[in-house]
Amino acid sequence: MNAPVKPSQLIKGATGDWEVVIGLEIHAQVSSSAKLFSGAATEFGGAPNSHVSLVDAAMPGMLPVINEECVRQAIRSGLGLNARIHLRSVFDRKNYFYPDLPQGYQISQYKSPIVGEGEVVVDLPDGGSVTVGIERLHLEQDAGKLLHDQHPTSTFVDLNRSGVALMEIVSKPDLRSSEQAKAYVSKLRTILRYLGTCDGDMEKGSLRADVNVSVRRPGEPYGTRCEIKNVNSIRFIGQAIDYEARRQIGILEDGGTIDQETRLFDANKGETRSMRSKEEAHDYRYFPDPDLLPLEFTQAYVDELKAQLPELPDAKKARFIRDFGLSAEDAGVLVSERESAEFYEAVLAELKDQGRDGKLAANWVINELFGRLNKDGQSIESSPVSAAQLAAIVALIGDGTISGKIAKELFEIVWTEGGDPRVLVEQRGMKQVTDLSAIEKVVDDIVAANPDKAAQVVAKPAMLGWFVGQVMKSSGGKANPQAVNDLLKRKLGL
Ligand code: ADP
Ligand code: MG
Repeated sequence: MNAPVKPSQLIKGATGDWEVVIGLEIHAQVSSSAKLFSGAATEFGGAPNSHVSLVDAAMPGMLPVINEECVRQAIRSGLGLNARIHLRSVFDRKNYFYPDLPQGYQISQYKSPIVGEGEVVVDLPDGGSVTVGIERLHLEQDAGKLLHDQHPTSTFVDLNRSGVALMEIVSKPDLRSSEQAKAYVSKLRTILRYLGTCDGDMEKGSLRADVNVSVRRPGEPYGTRCEIKNVNSIRFIGQAIDYEARRQIGILEDGGTIDQETRLFDANKGETRSMRSKEEAHDYRYFPDPDLLPLEFTQAYVDELKAQLPELPDAKKARFIRDFGLSAEDAGVLVSERESAEFYEAVLAELKDQGRDGKLAANWVINELFGRLNKDGQSIESSPVSAAQLAAIVALIGDGTISGKIAKELFEIVWTEGGDPRVLVEQRGMKQVTDLSAIEKVVDDIVAANPDKAAQVVAKPAMLGWFVGQVMKSSGGKANPQAVNDLLKRKLGL
């Protein structure tokens, strides 16, 4: 059970507080080289109608043949969502007419989906978490795409996407704010990317959401929902929810009622608009597709797939906290992308025999490396600093060879010029001075040059920081900060 909605999540209306209720239907394109019922390629960006088989174009007499790889990916996704896998499921025809759908129906799953109930734990920006119920995951075909901007009086159709496998992942109405909804979509995307069952690329439309929104007074039954179709970025999902909740509250507070309808999010205006009134299941005249047998597989097959799943983000996060002493926040950042977690683990592997300090390594990956990658708009896969190089820098800090400050300079050199950090430290004289007599000489000089400040420091111990700064500056940042501190305290009588 989730904690009750916090007052901060309620929306203030003119007549009191409202609670927003959200359920999401996520369409995730299955990572597979071929379509759900044909051998045509699923590649993105081909010339229009270059990846279309006779099945995808719905030529008479063509029969669909299930692509086992798509089934395998759907099962693996279901396992990643802690969901029940149904050993028998059924493909149905969902009938509707639209020019991007040459069959005149979409092959989907209705009453018997391949995956049943599951759940996803979602960490929230405020440190809390919410458990979101999964209603189902089913397989279905994508439709083609209409092109309205190719000809002054005609509309063209591109069937490259027609028949591509989608997983529709339906959540229960368990989300209570746009923040929660955004965090849920990110988490789902992360899980699918770890599994390799969907690339999660929202810009290319590989992952998009139908967003169901209703509002109610706290504690009352659910209100009537509106469904905002095909929202294709996490930021837009948040904006659409906030706008839609406000719109519904406005209507209800004016004494009106909400019509259950399908709406569209206009990203330019940041508002939702009515598309059509809500269609009911019977409008689609669902019936089992007579061209396809029920989909059946054995529990042994499911068990085998389960045994081969990669370590998923929740398990990885728990292990990072347990084995490397990381905070939940740092562990969460590292596991949010599989590539980041792998990079961190590669750094730790390099540090194996060098007094491995997991926290220090995490700091360097998150703050220095990610910070630098972001600044340059680069991704971890193309990082100019390798895991081995970063590990060497961390090891040099760990054993006291360089200070944290010098390490940042070293990092910058490795970033721009490359090279072995250990060699660079030698060549460029970057080693930390731990020779006490050398540091003492600098300390004495600084104290002697500033008699007035030295006289004040006993009354104002905070001034010690100024002295430390002077000594560090004068030593080119290479003096061991601990030694500087100790020596200064002694010399200044603190
Ligand atoms: P449909 O095909 O009619 O859209 P689905 O079962 O596919 O129905 O999806 C319904 C979605 O709407 C689910 O994600 C569910 O959580 C959500 N939902 C149901 N009732 C409400 C409600 N009152 N407010 C917000 N979301 C809701
Ligand atoms: Mg729907």
